[in-house]
Amino acid sequence: MLHTRRRLLSLAFAAALSACATTAPPAVAPQKNPKLLVLVVIDGLPMRQVTGYRDQLAPDGFARFLDHGRWFSQAHYGHGHTVTAAGHSVMLSGAYPQRSGIISNEWRDPATGAQVYNTGDVAYQYIDSPTAPLAGTSPRNLKVETLGDVLRTGSPASKVIGISGKDRGAILPAGHKGTAYMYMTETGRFASSTYYMQAHPQWVKDFNATNPADAFFKKTWAPLLPEAAYARSVPDGQSWQIASGNGNKLPAVIGDKMDGPGPRFYGGLLASPFGDELTLAFARAAITNEKLGQRGVQDILSVSLSSHDYINHAFGPESRLSHDHTLHLDRHLQAFFQFLDKEVGAGNYVLALTADHGFTDTPEWAATQGRDAGRFNSSPSLAVVNTALSARFGVDRLARDFSASGLLLDEKLAADKGLKFADVQAAAREELLKLPGVATVFTREQLLGDDRTTPYLEAMRKSFDPTRAAQLQIVLKRNWIFSYRPGGSTHGSPYDYDTHVPLLFWGPGYVGQGEVKERVEIADLAPTLAAIAGLPAPAQAQGRDLKLKP
Ligand SMILES: [Zn+2]
Repeated sequence: MLHTRRRLLSLAFAAALSACATTAPPAVAPQKNPKLLVLVVIDGLPMRQVTGYRDQLAPDGFARFLDHGRWFSQAHYGHGHTVTAAGHSVMLSGAYPQRSGIISNEWRDPATGAQVYNTGDVAYQYIDSPTAPLAGTSPRNLKVETLGDVLRTGSPASKVIGISGKDRGAILPAGHKGTAYMYMTETGRFASSTYYMQAHPQWVKDFNATNPADAFFKKTWAPLLPEAAYARSVPDGQSWQIASGNGNKLPAVIGDKMDGPGPRFYGGLLASPFGDELTLAFARAAITNEKLGQRGVQDILSVSLSSHDYINHAFGPESRLSHDHTLHLDRHLQAFFQFLDKEVGAGNYVLALTADHGFTDTPEWAATQGRDAGRFNSSPSLAVVNTALSARFGVDRLARDFSASGLLLDEKLAADKGLKFADVQAAAREELLKLPGVATVFTREQLLGDDRTTPYLEAMRKSFDPTRAAQLQIVLKRNWIFSYRPGGSTHGSPYDYDTHVPLLFWGPGYVGQGEVKERVEIADLAPTLAAIAGLPAPAQAQGRDLKLKP
């Protein structure tokens, strides 16, 4: 009896199995999770610079993504004030500044008018390096969690490390539970802060003990390719290209006319291809010594390379200097990726590459191309607005200052003087709109409202945290920049040249191949990486999983 029942059961089981066999797809090995996620950020790299020099790329740098990975040719930031801290806060949180609170690199507290730096936190100091006032030492101002926070909450043995030439480039992607190391322009060393640890691990001490930045003293930045290769870019030595620092012509000697390495040299180093080379050397040391992706748990490494941003600020993204820097960077990336293949193993990690913002062409050059381009200088503009407000309301200094992408009005002063804030705001807006270069100005009420059709309003809304942002948000005309100096260029607008950045993935087995032309947002990066890693997306993410599995 028992025997018969067993036999019947086993027959039923066999029948069920054979039914499965006819309908189920061929058996595949369960998808394992990558042991290491590597996010490479190129500070200030518009997508047009990647595709614009594609024919001159090395086979395994950017081309690793373009030829063997999945890449998005229309990836944009959704927020309007496209600056470094804001971009870095979005990448691994998936949340826009309206949620992350990282509205800009710095801003004025609307209540007190005090200057705030995005990663500033006086409670913590750099380790073995001096800490200046307002220095970036912790993620305290970041109101959201990152993918690294999600990972470490579920897997405390996992490591999340952020490395960058800039404090904000290291701290914001590392989140609240990771570890950040940043380049110190005072000492030429990399430092963490007391938010993360009390003393550096031995490998960091060893790295710094060799004074690695000094090895680049008097090194020459020479063009990588023959002159003819740069015919598509604006030649060196233009009047609008900043000639201080390393000069505005190649070849350039880094540390020229200096007696020895010091803060001026260490700062200038960052504005050359050697800044990236040094940062990647530190990243290699981190991978080897922390055994990232080699310990049976998942890890996350983010490396934000700052040099391209400094170069674009000085010479513009249209310049030969920036073109050549992109090519040097490409070769450094190739060497770094090949190091990862060897150290971590090509099947064990996934690479993602993006930028924190794009770049505007230098206005003086744009003008030579027939564009209406210019510089909006905030100091004289503030005086003009305050003079008009004084004449109208009989109260001085109703406008405190420009703050991030806006004009901050003194709401308390207006109330104390018995003025209706709405009247002051409307008058200030009217004055701003008269200034050259101003396209539109949004009020706090518009930014807090739900109008989704007015151009650029939704983008500026994504940059607007009412507890931190100025009440009036300004959008300049296309090709105009906020600028306090006569040369160079910048970014920070909601226009495509500032929002359109690379979004590139590589990881055989984890990520498919080919170009995707659909418009996507950088807020999609964190949910996408989360899905690849088998993790939940960060809680406040506004993006979506781009579903990259092959
Ligand atoms: Zn930047």
